[in-house]
Amino acid sequence: MKIEWGKLLNYPEALQEHQWGSFPSQMLILANDIAEYIDCTKFSGTCYMNIVEHSRSDIVAVCHRDTLGCRIDGIKRNDLKLWKLDIDSFLDRTARSLAATHQDWFNKNIEKIDVFDNLWRLGQYVAYDKQEYPAFIVLTNDSLELLNILRFISITFNKNFLILTPLKAVFNASAEAEILRFTNIFLALEDIFVENSEYGLELSGDVQKTIYNWILQFSPWKR
Ligand SMILES: [Zn+2]
Repeated sequence: MKIEWGKLLNYPEALQEHQWGSFPSQMLILANDIAEYIDCTKFSGTCYMNIVEHSRSDIVAVCHRDTLGCRIDGIKRNDLKLWKLDIDSFLDRTARSLAATHQDWFNKNIEKIDVFDNLWRLGQYVAYDKQEYPAFIVLTNDSLELLNILRFISITFNKNFLILTPLKAVFNASAEAEILRFTNIFLALEDIFVENSEYGLELSGDVQKTIYNWILQFSPWKR
């Protein structure tokens, strides 16, 4: 089954199990809180029910639309579990997939970049010229934010870089121009991973080749 990478855009929000769809459970952890609402059973699809917790053993759901006629008593806390992205596990798997391609060339070094929400450095490639070329991931679907991030990285790191986002739709003409200006690489998670039964996340052969050629151009003999 195809991984629903778009679910990453909810981070750091916690979701009910069914809301994660086919997203791999290996990359999820249980959140501390429980759901504040569930789907309505009476007006299915168009309504929701608020969860009211009178005590840990007395939980009810009350319809948002029909507060008197539509309610469920005796709901179990267990049925209201929420799951959130296990960000450490996810970033580690993603970084390791980059490292697995060219093990000698990639140093995994995960670090949150605080200037923006949901932007991390995964590590850096070390090319034949001994220079470091960083790899980033940002969980956004906002094209303007992506453009600002690309400019920020260019100025702050002053290096060619690779950047990942969950979906390719965020990549518009302005972002493309910014990427091409310095021969950087943009990749969407939905395009680069091949299915792997253990969700070890494995880069497709084409992407490995793209990255390889990108690093090669920083070799002294290529200049
Ligand atoms: Zn309802």
